[in-house]
Amino acid sequence: MERLLEIKNLKTSFFTHVGEVKAVGGVSFYLNKGEALGIVGESGSGKSVTMMSLMRLLADTGKIIDGEMIFEGKDLAKLSEKEMEKIRGNEMGMIFQDPMTSLNPVFTIGNQIMEPLLKHKGLSKKEAFNKSVELLSLVGIPSPKERMKQYPHEFSGGMRQRAMIAMALSCEPKLLIADEPTTALDVTIQAQILELMKDIKQKLNTSIILITHDLGVVADVCDRINVMYGGLVAETGSTRDIFYNPRHPYTWGLLNSIPNPESTVREKLKPIEGQPPDLLKPPVGCPFAARCNYTMKICELKRPPLFQITPGHSSACFLNHPNAPKIKAPVGRGSL
Ligand code: SF4
Repeated sequence: MERLLEIKNLKTSFFTHVGEVKAVGGVSFYLNKGEALGIVGESGSGKSVTMMSLMRLLADTGKIIDGEMIFEGKDLAKLSEKEMEKIRGNEMGMIFQDPMTSLNPVFTIGNQIMEPLLKHKGLSKKEAFNKSVELLSLVGIPSPKERMKQYPHEFSGGMRQRAMIAMALSCEPKLLIADEPTTALDVTIQAQILELMKDIKQKLNTSIILITHDLGVVADVCDRINVMYGGLVAETGSTRDIFYNPRHPYTWGLLNSIPNPESTVREKLKPIEGQPPDLLKPPVGCPFAARCNYTMKICELKRPPLFQITPGHSSACFLNHPNAPKIKAPVGRGSL
């Protein structure tokens, strides 16, 4: 498979009045063409900051300290703002949790979808109109021609998210980044939007990065998953690896906090107790040690490296060391 993106040892910090917050502490991962990758973790895990670093859309206090972000052979960390703007408009599309933050309430939906087509693709007004109608239809908006004339407030939440996806797809991006795209939607609409993303991947061969706090959301859409914790990758693997052979106690916790679709009894979901680490003073050892039920002495003294389980499946947990005590994973089908 051909690589689209490779992130190597990315470190991003925020410089606040109380000190340096090390939001991303050295993250590496890749994305192949036509593949969907889920980035999963609680708030504060570094997942959204990783993506904002990639888009080079960090707040003023944020800075990429180290690392490379190779996208189609170019290191995005080294590009000028002007070059980056071109990439954002043409090669990357982004969808946010709340479409109202990206849609302008005073312009019609049609105008907003047409704008990037006129600006970046150099289409005539008529061509941009026709392409926008086509895009609205592709994302499942009925009577797209009529809908072009409407304003965002005339659309329901789910329809607004569809319109956002149409906007993000207008320049045929190679990469679509979706940050919690379904969190604000009810369950039925959420399922429809996820189905739409799967469809886009299949029909347009667009690579997708789906960022979410909910492992359940990525199960059906993503080929691979990165679980992030405390600004680091805790576990990475195929969706199958993560669901059936999870090898990190944090992944176990996340799996325990989603309903099991195969279960016939109503289970009580268990949230992960405790708080994420303070990234003003990141722990020297494993960032999950304070919340982990299996903490050993070494966990507090040394940061666990990524242990390879199988090619493509790794976990940053000392329980995967050959000399670690053997433990039966409480979820999935594997044991350590
Ligand atoms: Fe728990 Fe230690 Fe594994 Fe960290 S390295 S997740 S503290 S067992």
